[in-house]
Amino acid sequence: MCLLKIDDIIFQKGYILKDFECIYSHANGYSRRKTSLDLMLKENEVLVRPKYVGLCGSDLLQFEQCEDTEIKLGHEWVGTVESIGEKVESLIKGDIVTSASYIACGACDKCADGDSHRCEKGTALGKDILGAARSQIILPEHSLIQLSGDISPSQTVYEILSIAEEAVIQMIDTCNGTLSSEVLILGSGPIGVAVAKCLERQGVNTLLTDRRPKRAEWAKSMALNAISLPFLMLDEGKRSNYKYIIDCTSVTGGDPGGLEHLTFFAAESARILIVAKYRKEDKLPFYVLSNRRCRISFLSSASTNRLMETIRDCAGLLKSIEDKYISHIFQLEHFDNAIEVAFEKNQCGKVIVQIQ
Ligand SMILES: [Zn+2]
Ligand SMILES: [Zn+2]
Repeated sequence: MCLLKIDDIIFQKGYILKDFECIYSHANGYSRRKTSLDLMLKENEVLVRPKYVGLCGSDLLQFEQCEDTEIKLGHEWVGTVESIGEKVESLIKGDIVTSASYIACGACDKCADGDSHRCEKGTALGKDILGAARSQIILPEHSLIQLSGDISPSQTVYEILSIAEEAVIQMIDTCNGTLSSEVLILGSGPIGVAVAKCLERQGVNTLLTDRRPKRAEWAKSMALNAISLPFLMLDEGKRSNYKYIIDCTSVTGGDPGGLEHLTFFAAESARILIVAKYRKEDKLPFYVLSNRRCRISFLSSASTNRLMETIRDCAGLLKSIEDKYISHIFQLEHFDNAIEVAFEKNQCGKVIVQIQ
């Protein structure tokens, strides 16, 4: 059931509220709601004005699955500091900042070890509690990372690149430091392309494949090795041939995801990393893969430290792909169109919304 009060929701396009948050519910789709923030910042808090948010596959999956939950939009974002709490030392008004999608507590053992994405006391942005697609957001100083240069929509892509970097590091780690043959990446959407680019940075050969020929073409336009899935499956030599597979597919919009193709392509003892998010009803072919002694691991998030390293190391990479990678930028009043386009995977790459 939808719990929104009708007075709180502004449906009309083009009407800008001074203080608002962007939400999504099954009952009403996208809407904006008035908010009021308590602007008394705690000593280590920072008030930020988000400027751009990205939409990604995990948003789309939530939209399809939220049922009676209301989604607060925005987990890939960039914004500017508006004001700071008394003890904030690393930031000043006007600084450009971003954060990982998981806002950790900053105080537990996992946070102290740099594994902020494993903290159990934090808040995931873009879920049911808090999203970055709002006029103002208050976040703890420790969660924020300062960016250099002018603010730009492409800075929202660092979050995806940090997941891709984490995937690459995890894959290389489980293979004792070397990937001796081509890595097959299932799904050449924004996350698949990011993973391929990060592997390329490590000197690893990749092949991206996607059931949509246009997505394979899109990857090729960024100088990646890509082929449409039906063609790849016709090549008998590729069957049960891949020692390393990263599943970056999506199950939104009626897509079947990559599970059946894992069994098609995985060689004996293959290492498989699943970055794609599946629904409860999607059953991993554990039986087939364990018979082949494949090792499967999963990845869903990256730490604040990983994001910091990605911002430091991948600025050049981002610059080299941003023109092709970002296919659409929408104004806030067209957020509903942005969601529509993001679901239309044949048309698009990364979709970004300008919040203010
Ligand atoms: Zn995302
Ligand atoms: Zn913590």
